[in-house]
Amino acid sequence: MWIENKDEIVEAGNHFIEHILNGHGITPGKHNKYLCISPDHNDNEPSMVMYNDHLYCFGCGKSYDSLETVKVLDGLDTKEALKKLADIAGVEVKYKNDKEMLNMYKELSDILIHDYNKFPKEVKEYVAKKKLDYRKFDDFDVGVFNPKQFRSVISRYDAHKVHKLNQTMLNKPTSLIFTIKDIKGRPVAFAARDCTGAKPKYINTSTTIYYKKSRNPFLIDRVLDYKYVYVVEGYTDALLMQIKGIPAVAIASATVPEKTVETLKDLGVEGIIVVLDGDAEGIKGVNRTIAKVLPESGMKCAMKRLPNGIDPDEYINDKGVSGFNQLPMMPFSEFWMRENKELKPRERLNEILKIMSKAELGNPSNHFNALEKVCNEMDINYNVEDIKKMYRSKVVLEKLPGIMDSMHKAESEIRYLRRTLGDMLERIDD
Ligand SMILES: [Zn+2]
Repeated sequence: MWIENKDEIVEAGNHFIEHILNGHGITPGKHNKYLCISPDHNDNEPSMVMYNDHLYCFGCGKSYDSLETVKVLDGLDTKEALKKLADIAGVEVKYKNDKEMLNMYKELSDILIHDYNKFPKEVKEYVAKKKLDYRKFDDFDVGVFNPKQFRSVISRYDAHKVHKLNQTMLNKPTSLIFTIKDIKGRPVAFAARDCTGAKPKYINTSTTIYYKKSRNPFLIDRVLDYKYVYVVEGYTDALLMQIKGIPAVAIASATVPEKTVETLKDLGVEGIIVVLDGDAEGIKGVNRTIAKVLPESGMKCAMKRLPNGIDPDEYINDKGVSGFNQLPMMPFSEFWMRENKELKPRERLNEILKIMSKAELGNPSNHFNALEKVCNEMDINYNVEDIKKMYRSKVVLEKLPGIMDSMHKAESEIRYLRRTLGDMLERIDD
């Protein structure tokens, strides 16, 4: 937990439990009791009692303080729930700070050797094979560690911090080291590529209070001023692209994590162009990204499709930056239509329109023409107008549960007001 004043937030939040319940349209019923909020308890008579600083359910025996209440009602993890609770209770969130840890990463990045001529043979071969311009390694803090210097730095830090480094591969002269920085440009992690051919090929340093892989993709510090950013899998791909002036970050995973999209959005990035490896894993990753991540994110997204089995760095080395730029941008809907071969074309269209209806991805009309084109190729006769109509019906279906929900809420509020009013009138009568 990186929030220092958790107890303070929860305590302050405990005065607002009723307010939180009301915010979700939950009001007391018979005998001033609430329906249990536990998703596991299908309460049919109100069994939950509001105490001074917590809720208690006599049906299932669960109790909820303000933090648990927010977690359940908003479906948030602890950290997010604490932030929300702090907001409700008007308490400032204080984050733990660990300057020592930052110092260690900075010191280590400073002792990285960037001079190609001093690299061991294995690393030289790897750099040559990847056609990386090593004259730029200094600028990107890429290089190799001298194990003796490495050990001398870490000997001055406490064991807990050093443990986070997963030293085995960092501390090897035959590993090429990538320094991962946060958006402020501070070194917060390292990735090591073993150049001897041993497995695993890559290792990362561990999660710390300053670094989480999904939140902090490699080279995020280099895309701060861009509206569109390329997202690739490999560190060498992103490095090569950046050296050639293409704004790219590396996620080191086949699916674009939700948190990566969130981070980029927070930076003001409007769209991502996914260029995952042109292999089966890459395609699966794009599919997962489209189905799981994009509908929630509201991020615009397109992709570039590489020839089978070719990674971005190979493609750029082969065709140059201009060749890469000429590679057509594909709206994700078109990709979905072409790739999901286990579904029949009509089902595919249905599915992608459903995904689009959940995703507020700028202007959906960008997709309609592409979809018409693919439909024609696949001999299903939908034109742009048909597709638009289908899309609109899906949008309505998608929004319907929300509308029904708020109607139910409004009804229950009216019932509550009537009851309260009735009580008041009775008292006046008395
Ligand atoms: Zn219960």
